[in-house]
Amino acid sequence: MNKKTLVNETISDIKNLKFNAELLAEQNLKEMRAKSEEFRVFDDELRLAMFEVAQNPKMNQEKVKKFLKPLKDKRTQALLNAGKPADYTEPHYSCKLCDDTGILKGEKCVCFKQKLQQKLIENSGLKVENLHSFEESNPKILAKNEMLLKAHNLAKLYTEKFPDVKTKNFVFMGEVGTGKTFLLECIANKLLERQFFVVYATAFNIQNTMIKALSAPASERELVMSPLLECDLLIIDDLGTEPMIKNISASSLFSVLNERETKNKATLISTNLSFDDIEARYGNRLFSRIFNQRKTKVIAFSGKDLRINTN
Ligand SMILES: [Zn+2]
Repeated sequence: MNKKTLVNETISDIKNLKFNAELLAEQNLKEMRAKSEEFRVFDDELRLAMFEVAQNPKMNQEKVKKFLKPLKDKRTQALLNAGKPADYTEPHYSCKLCDDTGILKGEKCVCFKQKLQQKLIENSGLKVENLHSFEESNPKILAKNEMLLKAHNLAKLYTEKFPDVKTKNFVFMGEVGTGKTFLLECIANKLLERQFFVVYATAFNIQNTMIKALSAPASERELVMSPLLECDLLIIDDLGTEPMIKNISASSLFSVLNERETKNKATLISTNLSFDDIEARYGNRLFSRIFNQRKTKVIAFSGKDLRINTN
């Protein structure tokens, strides 16, 4: 798999969306013309009027509108009379910005970029679905836990200001069940909604991607790694739960974090490990990269297990 293939697949997916939207509109039009005489009469009249307009290029826009409006209204009324929505015979494009052309003002539309990012992520085996959102956070739990409330507010602010945030990188530290993953998912969800290129993955997934890259032909390696290196925000959940593979785990992770830092890209990490555990497990070089004091803040999660305490 190379990038060109993914780009071509994306173009073809968008073409299909457009084709299907227009096909459905055409089928609905045919259906209405067969079913409702009232509709057919006004549809014919409107077509005739549009033909007249086309024959008469001197007619200005304002006049054209005025001329066609009563016929359009009657045709719409016929749709409503038949129990159909007013736009029943219009194509419903999935991207309202570009009408499923993939192009907006001469450039690639945001829908194209997002679909391509999705394919890059899938190609690297990093697909994640059903992320939690801020709307699901429980105010009762937050009210009881001041630290969690602070972290929650900070996370919200981060997603609102991103990418213009004072601190780009955070490490969420704390025991299992203290709400770290939930909050990371909320951040990922919100920034995806804001149309950023976000990769959310467990350390385990990321390790698999690295292994996939290392075992891929040299020409494909870069593409497999690209979401980890190129995304606006990389979230590494549960650092330390992945199996330790000698000479791979620490050095691959180091190169990812290092390259992201060089490019000034944001990375969020969560871990159940302590500072000492991390240093012992990954060595001093990666430890210093993770906890780069100039660029990274540590949030300590503690308290009762929130997975149990749901009241
Ligand atoms: Zn679009």
